[in-house]
Amino acid sequence: MTAFHRQAGSLMSEQVALSSLAEAHGTPLYVYSRSAIEQAWKEFADALQSRPHLICYAVKANSNLAILDTLVRLGSGFDIVSGGELKRVLAAGGQPGKIVFSGVGKGEGEMAAALEAGIRCFNVESDSELSRLAEVAAAHGVIAPVSLRINPDVDARTHPYISTGLKENKFGIGMDDAMASYRRGAELASLDIRGIDCHIGSQLTQLEPYADAVRLLIDMVDRLSAEGIALSHIDVGGGQGISYQQSDESLDIAGWARCIMAAIGDRKLEIIVEPGRYVVGQAGVLLTRVEYLKSNADRHFAVVDAAMNDLLRPALYSAWQAIEPVETLPREARMYDVVGPVCESADFLGKQRNLSIAEKDLLCIRSSGAYAFAMSSNYNTRARAAEVMVDGGESFLVRAREDIDSLFANEFLLP
Ligand SMILES: *Cc1c(COP(=O)(O)O)cnc(C)c1O
Repeated sequence: MTAFHRQAGSLMSEQVALSSLAEAHGTPLYVYSRSAIEQAWKEFADALQSRPHLICYAVKANSNLAILDTLVRLGSGFDIVSGGELKRVLAAGGQPGKIVFSGVGKGEGEMAAALEAGIRCFNVESDSELSRLAEVAAAHGVIAPVSLRINPDVDARTHPYISTGLKENKFGIGMDDAMASYRRGAELASLDIRGIDCHIGSQLTQLEPYADAVRLLIDMVDRLSAEGIALSHIDVGGGQGISYQQSDESLDIAGWARCIMAAIGDRKLEIIVEPGRYVVGQAGVLLTRVEYLKSNADRHFAVVDAAMNDLLRPALYSAWQAIEPVETLPREARMYDVVGPVCESADFLGKQRNLSIAEKDLLCIRSSGAYAFAMSSNYNTRARAAEVMVDGGESFLVRAREDIDSLFANEFLLP
């Protein structure tokens, strides 16, 4: 992928120098490559082209309107987990008929809004939700399209916080209960039982967990069909992993698709897939400037202007993301902990990194397109970063840096 590369020692996004973007917009700054997003999305489209399919980008990975817009133009569908995400997708011009709605805690208002918009399917995660959805649909005089999210109890072999397909996780309906839920759902007049889905976790780099999960789902599809409950789609979820460091390989999407399709065989099922991280993860970087270099005892610290409120993954999951200087400059190399200004010892972006840097240098944190800006907060009353989209030789501001006054504009002094 050529989305980020070096030219005469300077790191570029497509044909734009990252240093010029930092100069123009300040730091911390998120930069996305439009072509990288398009290429990653097209890997799914190519891999699944031989079968009816729908790619529903998981909006929670990065919900910036310009990213949604980029995907709308490719014909993408969307996987949403809240009424807020529904609004964003519609604001970006997404087609309601290509939206699936996941999540364990859908509220009645969210269900009503999704029914009103006319979404493709609700991925229902419990019996109670099935009843609630039936009530809301009946009250609105419409029929809700439904898939049941199955918890297949397979180990995704990923970080425990992003593993979702084990029976101790809160997600989905257990294998033992699912048949009964389907029978109940089929009897509710305001529901149209269309599909089956699962999502076993995130950052999966092996095929076996997918193969195991899809085989279990297909077995259930066959049993339902024998009972006269015919499904028209199988939604295999997202979770396709990317390579954060050279030692871990990203999932091969063509191989993944072959494995899914082999398990489905010649059954007439549309394939829905919900990739988030894979589509945007490598397409984004976070630029940050070194404020201070300091040493405590035998530890060297690079204090930078981005923090855990901008990029939570290292603090939350001990995630490792590559950090490198934007310009290759003659500096002394040292082992640094790269830390932010937030008052928490968990506020680090990388530990024990060998870097040749000086104060005021610009750093690039790679693989920051997914679960990065989307998880940012205003902790320590820090304004959230600006976001820029690069397209060839052009760049566009797609989210302005927050203004501090706006952070407490909805707060009130006592009378
Ligand atoms: C988060 C999520 C996804 C996307 O996961 P990635 O690891 O980003 O691909 C897909 N489906 C559901 C239901 C999710 O919760």
